[in-house]
Amino acid sequence: MVMSRRVLLKNVAAIATVSSVYSQDPSRNEWGGPVVDCHHHLRRTLEANLMHLDGAGLSGAVVLARENSADQIGTWKKQYPGRFLGWFASTDITKPEAEDLLTKAVKAGAIGLGELKSHVAAAGPELRRMYALAAELNVPILVHFQEVPHTSTEGTFATGWTLKRC
Ligand SMILES: [Zn+2]
Repeated sequence: MVMSRRVLLKNVAAIATVSSVYSQDPSRNEWGGPVVDCHHHLRRTLEANLMHLDGAGLSGAVVLARENSADQIGTWKKQYPGRFLGWFASTDITKPEAEDLLTKAVKAGAIGLGELKSHVAAAGPELRRMYALAAELNVPILVHFQEVPHTSTEGTFATGWTLKRC
């Protein structure tokens, strides 16, 4: 889709206006009260994130983002109070530096680990390290479990759940 500069600026101005109204009173939406998206995957731009929230009538979101997103989300939280409530940090948990990166993210303000989406076993060493890290940091963990691929190349994620209840 090609959009003229004028239309783009008009749309951005409209988003800013709507977002400003919600940020002043997050309960003002068609649902009759605040609704939080607690599984909001970070979009590329602030405008795209606000457009998603406003389009769905959401008052705020807990953002799922890469582990290096603290500065970006911190800025947005200040710009739009009540819209970006917190964030979960993710990274490639098959890499040896995963624990350090996620620990750094939590110390920088992330309130949880996730969404962790890797081609690993649910009870395998990579995720066991992440479960232990979440416990150590005292934060929740969000894992993408998927036993059936949606396409021939997608694969599966965090499969074979066999952990016993504590
Ligand atoms: Zn997700």
